[in-house]
Parts: sequence; structure tokens; C-alpha cells
Amino acid sequence: MRLILLGPPGAGKGTQAQRLTGKHGIVQLSTGDMLRAAVAAGTPVGLKAKSVMERGELVPDDVVVAIIAERIGQPDAKRGFILDGFPRTVPQAQALDRLLAERGLTLDAVIELKVDEGILLRRIEKRVADMTARGEKIRSDDNPDVLKGRLEAYRAQTAPLVGYYAGKGMLKSVDGMASIDDVTAAVSRHLSGPARASKPKSSGRKRRAAGSIKSGARKDGARPKRRAAPKRKSRTTRRKNRPSRRLTRAR
Ligand code: AMP
Repeated sequence: MRLILLGPPGAGKGTQAQRLTGKHGIVQLSTGDMLRAAVAAGTPVGLKAKSVMERGELVPDDVVVAIIAERIGQPDAKRGFILDGFPRTVPQAQALDRLLAERGLTLDAVIELKVDEGILLRRIEKRVADMTARGEKIRSDDNPDVLKGRLEAYRAQTAPLVGYYAGKGMLKSVDGMASIDDVTAAVSRHLSGPARASKPKSSGRKRRAAGSIKSGARKDGARPKRRAAPKRKSRTTRRKNRPSRRLTRAR
């Protein structure tokens, strides 16, 4: 399974991605986490990204596309992945399309977490206050001022992806303001949608084979056979035998 989680910073993409990895046995690919690791390790990418991230702006497309291109080719991503925080611009989405096409891969869904930005700001403020109270380290870009910049970047550069994926018929929207469990349930419903949609096809075939009996035909093989057999006999005797005898006699 290959998914994109779309939504502004603080919408809960990371939390939902973690739940999905456990459920589907796929990996979470967060460009934010990868960039933070690069910054911490002082790699050339990290050195390039550090100040951009601290300002709440977006790291250049070619940098993140190169990171993702390398990461989705790794063995643990073979079973599938959830992209969290990527793509963030239309050029990144187009680059992803090319990367997947080159590998013969497709996306299963793009899930948008819809949120109220005012409430989001208060959520982040609370998260920062709670983490401070617990003595935990806070992300340098997790303060209300930088967050406002990140939200602006989202609106200007990332929000157009909603239309991009809606146009491809891939977008599924979820109320990101609901409780974490409710969001997870809504995401699961979207992901099980195609599987459910395929069921009527198979029950339709069985319906044709077993007359009016649907589930009974599957669970109890004897009953449909007994009911179907007399119907076939009476049809063949009335439709085939009688007219064909008359025709044979006439000829
Ligand atoms: P995140 O943890 O996803 O909120 O990302 C934190 C920061 O990393 C963002 O504010 C950006 O500066 C940078 N970043 C993460 N992903 C991307 C991306 N796909 N494109 C550009 N910048 C990104």
C-alpha cells in the first residue's frame, strides 16, 4: 500500500501515519524527520536545510525529491509506504509521479486531514506548553511564530495539491479535528473502500449461478443445488424438448 497524508503542520499526519504503519506493515517516510536527522548529523543536506527549516520555509524541491527517490528504493519500503510531509509542492508531486512511474508503482490514496487553522495554532501552543512542562526538547520550528509561517507556506504551496490529487480522482478527505481514534477510523474506511466496492461483483456472479439465493449458496452448497436443479429441468423440458419435437416432426 502506498499513501500520501496531506494536511497542514500539526494536523496529526505523523500520529495517523504511525498507526497505519503498524496496521499495514508499511513504513512511514517523513521528509521532516529525515531533514531533522540530516541537520542533527550535520550532513551537506542538513547544512542546507537548517536555516530554511528554522524560518518555517520549504526546503528546495530538488533536495527533498532526491531524499525521497533514494528512500523509496530501500528494501523496507518495498511493501509500501506512507508519505508524511511529502509532496509539499506541485513540482514535488509531479516528481513523485515520475519516480513511481519509473518503478512501475502507483499510489493507493491521498488522504487529506482537513483542519481549522485557529484551533491548530492553539493545539501547537498546548503541545509546546505540555512538552515544556515535562522538560522535553521542543522542535525549533514548533513555536507559534514559526508555525504561522509554516501555515502560510502550506496555504500557498501545499494546499494546491488538494486540487492536484482531486483532479486525478485520488483524494479522500477526513475531518482532522475529530478525535485521534475517529480520524483513524475514517482513514481506515477510506482505505477499505475499494475492497468493499469489489465485493458486489463476486456476489453478482454467484447470484447468477444460484438463482435468488445469495449468501446461502456459499455457506450451504446442498440447498442451492436442490433448488436450482428442478428449475433447469422444467426450463429445458418446456423450452427445448417440446418445440424441438414439433419442429422435427414438421420437417
Ligand atoms: P514537518 O516535520 O513535515 O512539519 O517538516 C518540518 C520542516 O521540514 C518544514 O517546515 C520544511 O522546512 C521542511 N520540509 C519537510 N518536508 C518538506 C518538503 N516535502 N518540502 C520542503 N520542505 C520540507
